[in-house]
Amino acid sequence: MKLPTLDRLLEDQLRDLYSAENQLVRALPKMAKAASADGLRQAFTTHLDETRRQVERLNQVGEMLGIKLTGRRCAAMEGLVEEGREVIDSEGEPEVIDAALIAAAQRVEHYEISAYGSARTLAEHLGHDRAADLLQETLDEESAADEKLTAVSIGEVLPAATAQDEAVNAEEETAGVGTKKAARPQGNTNRRPAARR
Ligand code: FE
Ligand code: ZN
Ligand code: FE
Ligand code: FE
Repeated sequence: MKLPTLDRLLEDQLRDLYSAENQLVRALPKMAKAASADGLRQAFTTHLDETRRQVERLNQVGEMLGIKLTGRRCAAMEGLVEEGREVIDSEGEPEVIDAALIAAAQRVEHYEISAYGSARTLAEHLGHDRAADLLQETLDEESAADEKLTAVSIGEVLPAATAQDEAVNAEEETAGVGTKKAARPQGNTNRRPAARR
């Protein structure tokens, strides 16, 4: 990778983001399909629409700066998408899978937040004000998506998963096989989000 100037660095950062967003356009429909909670499926679908617009925004930035955005692979997003794939392929209670999907998706949002923050700062420093504004717009959407996932987690997914955990524990107690499991403090930890509502 040749990085002789800050302009070349910005170009590389934007190409990395372009690859990352395009990977997400392919991955988010699979995340939505794997989600069981209505609110979570909706959050993924809404963010898919946003992500398509984010790709368009990057195209605008590329045109503004005279940069060709194709031809790079974001290795970090490949890894994050692979971890999402592992969740989709997991076996377990749908409520717990939903919680795992959220954990995987929030890793993605945080990666994007940091990448757009760096690109925005760089664009601003180089005097590309209009480009910086567009990058900030996307950055705000990524932050909102992250917050939405936390809200869906606290409001819908974790309470449902806790109800499921308790049903499993009760079943095991009745069957007389789960004495050890039922005594684990983990149950209390899981109950906290529901209590905070
Ligand atoms: Fe994005
Ligand atoms: Zn990357
Ligand atoms: Fe870590
Ligand atoms: Fe995003």
